[in-house]
Amino acid sequence: MTPFTYSRAADTAEAVRRGTIPQARYLGGGTNLVDLMREEIERPDTLVDVTGLSHEIEELPGGGLRIGAGVRNTAVAEHRSVRSRYPALSRAIVSGASAQIRNMATVGGNLLQRTRCAYFYDEAGQCNKRSPGKGCDALEGFNRNHAILGASPACVAVHPSDMCVALVALDASVHLRGSAGVRHIPLTELHRLPGDQPHVETVLDPGELITAIELPPQPFAARSTYRKVRDRSSYAFALVSVAAALQIEDGHIRDVRIALGGVAHRPWRASRAEEVLRGGPVGAIAFAAAADAELADARPLSDNGFKIELARRTIIAVLGNLAGETA
Ligand SMILES: Cc1cc2nc3c(=O)[nH]c(=O)nc-3n(C[C@H](O)[C@H](O)[C@H](O)COP(=O)(O)OP(=O)(O)OC[C@H]3O[C@@H](n4cnc5c(N)ncnc54)[C@H](O)[C@@H]3O)c2cc1C
Ligand code: SF4
Repeated sequence: MTPFTYSRAADTAEAVRRGTIPQARYLGGGTNLVDLMREEIERPDTLVDVTGLSHEIEELPGGGLRIGAGVRNTAVAEHRSVRSRYPALSRAIVSGASAQIRNMATVGGNLLQRTRCAYFYDEAGQCNKRSPGKGCDALEGFNRNHAILGASPACVAVHPSDMCVALVALDASVHLRGSAGVRHIPLTELHRLPGDQPHVETVLDPGELITAIELPPQPFAARSTYRKVRDRSSYAFALVSVAAALQIEDGHIRDVRIALGGVAHRPWRASRAEEVLRGGPVGAIAFAAAADAELADARPLSDNGFKIELARRTIIAVLGNLAGETA
C-alpha cells in the first residue's frame, strides 16, 4: 500500500481545505476505499476522515428529509421516517452487502463506491477506468454482470449501489461543498455515463465533499419498494434491481417513479417507462409496454442478454405488486 497521512476533519470547511489538495481522498467507512488502496487501484497520499461530520437525519419543513453524508447505512435503513415514508430506500440498503458492512458504510461513501467489474480489480487486465486509453477486457471477456443500457465501447461496467437506485427513484438531491462554495444537484445528475472517459465517474469537482442527500416530500413514496435479483440471496450485487413508487387514482396511474440497478454505469432512472404509464390504465399490459419502452435501446454483450428479459420481468412484477397494494 502506498504510504499516506491520515487526519480527522473537525468540520466541513476544514475537510474541504484538506480534501482539495491533489491526491487527497475523503474517508467514510472505508469499506470500498481501503480495499482499493490495498489493491493499489487508488493511491491517495492523504486521507481526510469525514465520519465525524454530517451525522443528522433531519425532518424538513414541508415533509422532506435531509440525511447527512456521514450517517451510516444501517442508521438510514432503520430510521422510522425512512421506513414509513420511503420504504424503497430502507429495503434497498438492507439488500446490500452485510450487516457489518452496512454498520460501517456511510451515505457519502455509498454514493461514490466504485464498480465491481472484475477487470477493474485485476492489475493484469486492461481497463480504461483504471488506466485510461488501455482498453476494456470486459468487452470480449466475462461480461455477465455488465451493462445493457448507456454503455460505450470504452466501458461496459455497472454502478454497484443498491441505495442509489432507490434514491434516484425517490427524486433525491445531493448537497455538495467545495472550494467554490455549496451547491445542490439532482442525484440523477451526479453519476456520469462512461462515454470515452469512464475514469470520470461523477460531475464532482476535485475535492468536492458530499455533505447530505435530501428526499423531497412525496406522499405516494410511502408505497414504494425495491426488488433486487441476484445470484445468491445475500452478499451479492444486483444482476438487475428495480425501485418503484406508484400512485393510483380511479383505476389510473396518477404518478409513478421507476429506477433500475445493475444495468448501467449509473443508477438508471426509467423516465421512458414512467412516461408510458403516467395517466394511463393500471395492469399487466401497461406495465409490459412501459418495460418494453424503457428497454428498447438495451444492447446486450456476449454473456448478459438475459438481463433484458430479467429487467422486463422484474419491472412488471414490481409494478404489479405495488398496484396490488394500492388498488
Ligand atoms: C463484500 C462487500 C459486499 C458489498 N455488497 C454490496 C451490495 O450488495 N450492494 C451495495 O450497494 N453495496 C455493496 N457493497 C459496497 C458498500 O455498500 C460500499 O463499500 C459502501 O457503501 C461504501 O461506503 P463507505 O462509507 O465505506 O465508503 P468509503 O470506502 O470510505 O469511500 C468510498 C468512496 O467515497 C468517497 N467518499 C466517502 N465519503 C465522501 C463524502 N462525504 N464526500 C465525497 N466523497 C466521499 C471516498 O473518498 C471513496 O472514494 C459491498 C461491499 C463489500 C466490501
Ligand atoms: S467495463 Fe469498465 S471497469 Fe470493466 S474493464 Fe472495461 S473499462 Fe474497466
